[in-house]
Amino acid sequence: MVTATMRFTPLVAGTIQAAIDTQMMRTTTTKNSQGVWPTVANRRADSITHLLTGALGRHPDYEVLIHVRGDGNTLDDGTPIPDGPVARLLPEAFIRLLIHDAEARPVNASSKRRSPTDHQKRLVKERDQTCIECGRHDLLEYDHLPAYETSRRTQTDELQLRCAPCHTRRHDQ
Ligand SMILES: [Zn+2]
Repeated sequence: MVTATMRFTPLVAGTIQAAIDTQMMRTTTTKNSQGVWPTVANRRADSITHLLTGALGRHPDYEVLIHVRGDGNTLDDGTPIPDGPVARLLPEAFIRLLIHDAEARPVNASSKRRSPTDHQKRLVKERDQTCIECGRHDLLEYDHLPAYETSRRTQTDELQLRCAPCHTRRHDQ
């Protein structure tokens, strides 16, 4: 299970709580497969899921990345996911599986476009993980080396993950 702690100002918290509880009251409660009634906590968790992922059947405008490796599956932040849930999620369009080969080497992909494709971004992010210069995890950008102006192409092994400050500093030099 993933547990989250969130901190909001009182008014925002009250608004969010009202949205969750309204959604909960609108949903018909049924016993689960073991014949057990859900707790209020269960129902609130279902309401949050429903509110955040949109109404059932509509696919939201984002994707969930699941890494599938020989030694197990994980979310992008390393949270382990058992095989069963991954198999059940496969038909969902917003779930993407990044399959790792034996050496964990990403497959190269070339594009004439300057901005990397979502697939290329995933491969570079998986390879570099953090800014390759300072190690920070946020403000990450995809830096062309050699420069796009020279190469006129976008290829995963010619992209490096750099945070915006390091990226800017490199180009200023
Ligand atoms: Zn950096």
